[in-house]
Amino acid sequence: MARRRAAEFVRPSVRRLDGYVPGEQPGRARLIKLNTNENPYPPSPEVLEAVSGAVDERLRLYPDATASQLRARLARLHGCEPENILVGNGSDELLAVCIRACAEPARSTSRVRAATVQYFDPSYSLYPVLVDAHGARRGPVALEPDFGLPALSGPGASWDARAALSLVTTPNAPSGRGYTTCELGALCRATEGVVVLDEAYADFASEHALELALRHRHVVVLRTFSKAYSLCFQRIGYAIGHAELLEQLMKVRDSYSVNGLAQVAALATLSDRRYYANTIKRIVASREQLAARLGELGFGVLPSETNFLLVEPPGRSAEEWFHELRERRILVRWFSGRRVRRYLRITIGTEEEIERLVREVERLLRA
Ligand code: PMP
Repeated sequence: MARRRAAEFVRPSVRRLDGYVPGEQPGRARLIKLNTNENPYPPSPEVLEAVSGAVDERLRLYPDATASQLRARLARLHGCEPENILVGNGSDELLAVCIRACAEPARSTSRVRAATVQYFDPSYSLYPVLVDAHGARRGPVALEPDFGLPALSGPGASWDARAALSLVTTPNAPSGRGYTTCELGALCRATEGVVVLDEAYADFASEHALELALRHRHVVVLRTFSKAYSLCFQRIGYAIGHAELLEQLMKVRDSYSVNGLAQVAALATLSDRRYYANTIKRIVASREQLAARLGELGFGVLPSETNFLLVEPPGRSAEEWFHELRERRILVRWFSGRRVRRYLRITIGTEEEIERLVREVERLLRA
């Protein structure tokens, strides 16, 4: 029997996939990490205490599969019912769940729209990877040159009101641009398939669109504890939407996907919201300061409603800036995609980290 290479046991369509490329998580100490939009401030002391307090013999037990306590707390916070909340292993898991539940694999249907997952380009680079992994059909729709939403109907519009699923990053990543609830409301009303408003960065924005998920049966808002609540390590996010829709999503989620310590951490987070209101305020203030200073240094700075800035650096290419800054132990993000390769994406760090970044940028501009 011919010996097959191990990879050949896997479906050809999977072998052809390009996997998601996460931002680097370096082992090197003393690197300033401004590349993955993590929060530079630690979780609140109460959260650390709650998590360490939960490391005991209960680790042998399965966690609450539906995160019922956390859902009850989130429901109180958002003025809805626990049935309107679905908790996941990061909002990444919930994105995959939405695709699995709403889009047919393209090979299993002749109805193109039933297999189409629509998303704006550029937006979160994980979307097309998840679409490919499910065998659904990619439906990228170009944002305007200033990353605003395009016209959804009329001549030249490529938005498909009847795509099975539409994923909207709001505020947008990687541009940082925010969208008003009014324009998102119009998008939801103009769309018949399920609309996911991925609000990973909404805590840093001046508006959010949660009300749309509570008003429309076909709209889901995704939130995460990763960004504003300093819990990337714990992997916890949630969906808000119509109870009947979430009940269906629940069926295609991994069982016990939300680990017990993450539930403990998220509950403790919600008990100390004052701490986070303060760190969010600091990050927003640093963002505005950094935007102004980089602007003075000749960078093109896009307005941001997130915890990062997309900037167009002067003098050398963005890719060269990326390498030069890395040499100086500052890690930022550079994407090679056509629409974004002229930019660097810089996560807002602590005040000290931002100071170091500005100093190194000044040095590089003189070099
Ligand atoms: N949505 C967007 C737009 C993101 O940038 C991220 C983080 N990379 C996520 C969702 C996923 O967040 P998490 O899985 O950590 O909740």
